[in-house]
Amino acid sequence: MHIGVLALQGAFREHIVTLESLGVKATAIRMPSQLAQLNGLVIPGGESTAIAKLMVSYGFYDPIRQHHDSAGMAVWGTCAGAILIAREIIDALPGQESLGLMDIAVQRNAFGRQVDSFEADLDFAHLEDGPFRGVFIRAPWIEETGPGVETLAHHDGKVVAARQGDLMATAFHPELTGDPRVHRFFIEQVVAA
Ligand code: GLN
Repeated sequence: MHIGVLALQGAFREHIVTLESLGVKATAIRMPSQLAQLNGLVIPGGESTAIAKLMVSYGFYDPIRQHHDSAGMAVWGTCAGAILIAREIIDALPGQESLGLMDIAVQRNAFGRQVDSFEADLDFAHLEDGPFRGVFIRAPWIEETGPGVETLAHHDGKVVAARQGDLMATAFHPELTGDPRVHRFFIEQVVAA
């Protein structure tokens, strides 16, 4: 099992530490050539506009799409990463392009209009041992989900986690809590799909 974490900007180190704690080989991905042979890729939180610019500079858009579509690489986007894998970014900045992998529409900085950052206990589908503590930092929410998308968690009536086959989006930061259950779910359920 080999999971890559896109390491252009944002909270990528914490994902690597959590994945390694689960006994998985985890690599910081800085060049598209490193995508070969990955079972899964995590696109971390950070600033989606900055990550998108760097993805353009380094030529990541088509290689990520190709490795997902034809090489079976699962993809999980957290926060800014969820924005980047969505079919549609609502209120995207001019020129802000998403990968368009997952059939969701996300609203950027959605909770941020009310309060910048907060934590909340989430009832996350398929996870045992009680609620998962969600850390939300200028988080998006998932405004629309297509027919093939399973919602995994809600907060205040908004979808904050979802999966579609080998794709997963979480609006919050599971790598910042020290609780590895969402990472284990990605490895066991999403990558296995
Ligand atoms: N608001 C940020 C964005 O639009 C996402 C914040 C985060 O990843 N914590 O990119």
